[in-house]
Amino acid sequence: MYDDSTSMAGTGRVLNREQFVAYARGRIDAATALLHEHARVNGVCTCGRALPCPLAQTLASTATHYRRRLAAIAGTAPPRRAPRR
Ligand SMILES: [Zn+2]
Repeated sequence: MYDDSTSMAGTGRVLNREQFVAYARGRIDAATALLHEHARVNGVCTCGRALPCPLAQTLASTATHYRRRLAAIAGTAPPRRAPRR
């Protein structure tokens, strides 16, 4: 059911900062745990897929995405461009 009302109460569509941090950490933990099932052994992934394993890539990018979001929230994200000298 799509609710386009201005009230966000109870819809779960908008997370506050604390909720997002908890959500992001959960996603990172889940992705990291699942990544343990994927390792390069003898030219194939331990899950049986050929390398590069698409599932492992997705999990890794998910973890990276949420780590960056958390770093941005915490204000610890590195600058987009390093100063050139
Ligand atoms: Zn795999």
